[in-house]
Amino acid sequence: MISSPLLKEFRGFIDGSWVGADSGELLEVHNPATGTLLAAVPNMRNVETDRAIAAARASMRIPSSAAERATWLSGIDHALRENKEELARIITLEQGKPWPEAQVEVEYAAGFFRYYAQHLDRLEPHTIEEEPKNCRWTVYSRPVGVVALITPWNFPLAMLAKKLAAAIAADCAAVVKPSAKTPLTMVAFFSLLEDKLQFPAGRINLLLGQAGAIGDALCRNPSVAMISFTGSTRVGSELITKTAPQVKKLALELGGNAPYIVFADADLDRAADHLIANKFRAAGQTCVCANRILVEDSVADRFADKVAERVRNLTVGDGMDEGVDIGPLIDANAYEKVRGYLRDALDKGARCVAGADPGELEDDQAPFFPPAVLADVNESMKCSRQEVFGPLVTIMRFADEDEAIAMANNTSLGLAAYVFCKALKRAEQVAAQLHFGHVGLNTGTGPTPEAPFGGMLQSGFGREGGLEGLHEFVEVQTLAAAK
Ligand code: NAD
Repeated sequence: MISSPLLKEFRGFIDGSWVGADSGELLEVHNPATGTLLAAVPNMRNVETDRAIAAARASMRIPSSAAERATWLSGIDHALRENKEELARIITLEQGKPWPEAQVEVEYAAGFFRYYAQHLDRLEPHTIEEEPKNCRWTVYSRPVGVVALITPWNFPLAMLAKKLAAAIAADCAAVVKPSAKTPLTMVAFFSLLEDKLQFPAGRINLLLGQAGAIGDALCRNPSVAMISFTGSTRVGSELITKTAPQVKKLALELGGNAPYIVFADADLDRAADHLIANKFRAAGQTCVCANRILVEDSVADRFADKVAERVRNLTVGDGMDEGVDIGPLIDANAYEKVRGYLRDALDKGARCVAGADPGELEDDQAPFFPPAVLADVNESMKCSRQEVFGPLVTIMRFADEDEAIAMANNTSLGLAAYVFCKALKRAEQVAAQLHFGHVGLNTGTGPTPEAPFGGMLQSGFGREGGLEGLHEFVEVQTLAAAK
């Protein structure tokens, strides 16, 4: 069992109190690196969900001032940074990523609270210069209302931070539902909130348990004004259907299939270094991980060698051990899925230039997947069409710029893309033709709190981070006052 000063409770948090499931049912949480049981948390369903929504709604009767919200946001920023190592340890134990990487996640998460604490003035009302129809026109940013925040397991803290920081800034009340695979980081986060900050009861609630039952209640309950969801395109699409009867506001951050385009004139060492940093974060389980490495023909073999050389130096192991670069995958299903993509590509003619098929997972074996690099991947292979979500580098060739753009855009997903090329002007022209919400030019970096991030097409809609992320959580109200 896990022991931590931040885990005095293993329960949900509703209306200002720690609570279990009405049924008394529990869900186990395991360490993916060791298989050890970390804790058991309540398996809540629709009744607890409706109770949390009612508490959130009641808490919104008294609006909070901008000064109060700024204090909360800065307080959370400080609390996260002060407890960075311990929070990161909990992330590593339940999610698997290396401890130093988990600490970067905590800093990244804190950045959203800090950023919005500094930009609350952007929500102040403004008047329109012209005074048409003999009226004075003022535009207000009103809180959306009660928001449901649903997050995945790959960034147990950061994915929530993006949403909650903006929701608090906009003066919304929140009901939070983390993944059942990684609930402990959220429990620790809520215990920090309780210890360090005086939020009104019901303002922020934590539900743990069954995704289906909780999700259905969030979609059905008319008091939930908006659902902000990060996760798979499949579940995102289900939420669209289920909320359609109520025309509920949605912000959806869904799956990716990122192209990583390397032109022949690019600095190949830089492109290879950035690829390693981008591709192996969270063992390749991030939505912005390069999924298809598109390399100009004349340098494709040289680039594959450079990547392979770097990949051979990566260490796979328990994220709490020193010197580990890649932790385990989240579970055995994830392992089988990645292995399926590897085998399908090998069957269809891809070449393994680093790593190999790691074989079937034994019953008691942890899902460590050694990184592999595949060259000569083509569009008939499943790994080029689906989100691999694992430490598998798949290198494809292109002949010229037009083909690179066509291949990059040959997906219904549009989250992140990367372009490596010496001529910045050309890189910018290529970026303009890509249907992706985030494009890195000569960098494999992902999002940051200060800039908007989000997808196009089936990668979802809405933005997180930046002022755009804040505006997701407000409704614009226009007041026309007769003069
Ligand atoms: P998932 O869709 O299975 O689950 C995400 C969350 O939704 C979890 O909390 C889960 O319990 C919940 N959920 C599942 N079924 C639900 C339902 N019917 N109703 C309501 N909630 C439900 O995704 P995952 O496996 O946890 O995460 C991996 C996916 O997330 C990948 O596709 C990845 O690309 C995506 N992702 C996207 C971003 C982004 O910013 N676009 C960031 C991180 C992850």
